[in-house]
Amino acid sequence: MHRHTKIIATLGPAVADGQTVRAMVEAGMDVARLNFSHGDHELHRAFVSWVREAASDAGRTVAVLQDIQGPKLRVGEFPNGQIELETGSQVRLVAEDEVGTADRIPCSYEALLADIAIGDRVLLADGLIRLEVAEHAGSHLLVEVLVGGTLSDHKGIAFPDSHLSLESVTPKDEVDLDFGRTLGVDYVAASFVRSGSDVANVASIVGDVPIVAKIELAQAYANLDEIIEESFGVMVARGDLGVQLPLERIPLIQSEILTKTNAAGRISITATEMLESMTKSARPTRAEVTDVANAVQTGTDAVMLSGETAVGDFPIESISAMSAICRAVEDGTLSERGAQPVPFVGDGNRVASAVAQAATQVAVNVEAETIVAFTESGNTARLLSKYRPEARIVAFSPNPVTRNRMAMYWGVAPHDFERATYTDDEIASASGILQKDGLVRSGDTIVMVAGVPPNVRASTNLLKVHVVGELPGGLGS
Ligand code: PEP
Repeated sequence: MHRHTKIIATLGPAVADGQTVRAMVEAGMDVARLNFSHGDHELHRAFVSWVREAASDAGRTVAVLQDIQGPKLRVGEFPNGQIELETGSQVRLVAEDEVGTADRIPCSYEALLADIAIGDRVLLADGLIRLEVAEHAGSHLLVEVLVGGTLSDHKGIAFPDSHLSLESVTPKDEVDLDFGRTLGVDYVAASFVRSGSDVANVASIVGDVPIVAKIELAQAYANLDEIIEESFGVMVARGDLGVQLPLERIPLIQSEILTKTNAAGRISITATEMLESMTKSARPTRAEVTDVANAVQTGTDAVMLSGETAVGDFPIESISAMSAICRAVEDGTLSERGAQPVPFVGDGNRVASAVAQAATQVAVNVEAETIVAFTESGNTARLLSKYRPEARIVAFSPNPVTRNRMAMYWGVAPHDFERATYTDDEIASASGILQKDGLVRSGDTIVMVAGVPPNVRASTNLLKVHVVGELPGGLGS
């Protein structure tokens, strides 16, 4: 069975050889994520060539997503690598590049004193250690330890209540983005964005590569609407978001982000710890299975694996397990899935949205199992996908970059295609290809969505109910 929900898998040391990447592609990886917080450029270059080669050999389309580190804040180093913070004690926080002491924490953030106010919370080590700013004391902040613990070198530091004046793209990101361009990455994921203008800033550097905005700061969640507006896709980055916002609210926040992102016609991604126990175990927990299923039911385009594939002991099994869970949910009836009618997608192109929505309904009425889109930019396929048809969407595009990008769209199977001058010829040719591939048989009904004239971006305006084997004009063959 065709799987609708797409799988993003992070590449890392556990899968750093051509054979394992090939096995990931064969197991169902749709998007390979390069995490630029780790790994050197040569390894990332090797990953891209292994992915491209394996995808081509397997006859699959796999996109490459470059995830840049962004302005992540960290503490510095300590004598012996760590310090103990006692609950109820007071310590100093300094914006200095120095080795810390038991009561002095260095942090890589120049505007610390200017940006952080008295009463603001400071979270360390994944939110396990909690501090509150008590006083601005000249050269440092005096902070009270609300919940103590062991703080080791380079742990993350977060300021969920503060408005930070950091640059959205660091010098390291700029170098990495330049390198990503030479690799021909299909997407860029922007980390620690706070606003729509942060996303626009990354977009201005990468040109026409689509941006996925990671929602991982309280400030990003507060500015969700404008971030969605500026982005091609949005990722619920639950790791850092769960540090910034109360953990128990993450399920509802996830649902809100996915729903708003889909309604705006953008690509939605659910990420982090989805099958976490599979870093060490060959089988997921019941809770993890339910978490993946829940994201699929809410309508996520893609689910993401991080440590499970990058550093885990069972990377291939993790992809297979995720794929099986997605399929099981998609196999359920509409009422089992709690499927809701999809609202008209607010996309700017009202005609294309209307045709895509109509095609989805027509496919139900005529019991078509395949919807075909002819697409230059991928736009028609994306809109069809957003209406979540039961039918598979085969997206024919002559453009290899478009085909790679469509690998991340829910329900879309990208397919190579040669341009034709007339729409009738394109329809006949697509029908023949599907028949040759064994996806349809003579007499099957296909719903086709195209633009007239053909081969023009954003011209979707035609819906045809096509019977396989029938000649254009309705004469049977
Ligand atoms: C996250 O924080 O959930 C996330 C996806 O980002 P990263 O893996 O880069 O920390």
